[in-house]
Amino acid sequence: ERTTETYEPVVIAELASDEDLIWSISLQARIDAALANGEIYTIFQPKVLVQTGELVGVEALVRWRDPVKGLIPPDHFIRQCENAGRMSHLTRHVLTQACLAGTRLASQGTALPVAVNISATLVHERDIVRMVQETLAETGFDPQLLTLEITETYRISNHERAAEILGELRALGAKISMDDFGVGAASLEALLRLPFTEIKVDRLFTSAIKDDPKAAAILRSVLALGREMRIIVVAEGVEDEATLAILREMGCVVAQGFGISRPVTLEEIDHFQRLAPEIRRQNMV
Ligand code: C2E
Ligand code: MG
Ligand code: MG
Ligand code: MG
Repeated sequence: ERTTETYEPVVIAELASDEDLIWSISLQARIDAALANGEIYTIFQPKVLVQTGELVGVEALVRWRDPVKGLIPPDHFIRQCENAGRMSHLTRHVLTQACLAGTRLASQGTALPVAVNISATLVHERDIVRMVQETLAETGFDPQLLTLEITETYRISNHERAAEILGELRALGAKISMDDFGVGAASLEALLRLPFTEIKVDRLFTSAIKDDPKAAAILRSVLALGREMRIIVVAEGVEDEATLAILREMGCVVAQGFGISRPVTLEEIDHFQRLAPEIRRQNMV
């Protein structure tokens, strides 16, 4: 059985004053300890073909299970992690776990693309290129199977520099995805200037297509944009069969969402992979 995640909306109240150096230092120590003792780990959400339900990749999503506070959603600690100067540390951890998972799946005969989320702030520094290169070498994961999902692209302040760094990541063989497409400013500029191979339409749009003709029009336009630019479009946040049916009709190729599968453990990914497509389809909501 799949373990569905129960999110308790835990807010780390004492971390709110991130300008306080003392908190920042204790936060650094807490994050480092959590990384070292396994409180911070990675789960995986399937990406599937809309037409057949076939598994075509997984996205690694970070989790922090605090022994006292319970499961802390990434939205609640990613920013604190950045403020504490631990983003690259966290990213290296997730990247390593994701690549190890990918290598393990490949060794079991399931060579699947694996996506890792990368904060926009990290693509201003060349360190990310070295990090990816080293992690690929350490884990033996095929670079062609690695996708880097750049989150909050609107935070990229220097497109020229980001284009160089993303270009180097492309040269290693990795794919580059623009996450949460459509929300935040300057997303078309980023699409023009940066070497993306994939667009992930934000779930704001996907979740509205069955009720809101405007959302449906936007989604169809993004699909057309993807076809014109020869960029894969992934619809994220598919929560029900009705939405999936509309996406199928629109010609959307890849989708992701709770209605297809929640994020699950690596073992459950293996199980999902082994289900026949018809059964996977029946499992959709
Ligand atoms: P994202 O990359 O856009 O990931 C999708 C988020 O939406 C995930 O939340 C996923 O669990 C959730 N989701 C997937 N399908 C559905 C659906 O059908 N309905 C709804 N309501 N939600 C759905 P999660 O794991 O809480 O992550 C939130 C965000 O945190 C991610 O958004 C990503 O921006 C960031 N994040 C997660 N892991 C990492 C990481 O390792 N590094 C970085 N830099 N950011 C991460
Ligand atoms: Mg993502
Ligand atoms: Mg996304
Ligand atoms: Mg999103």
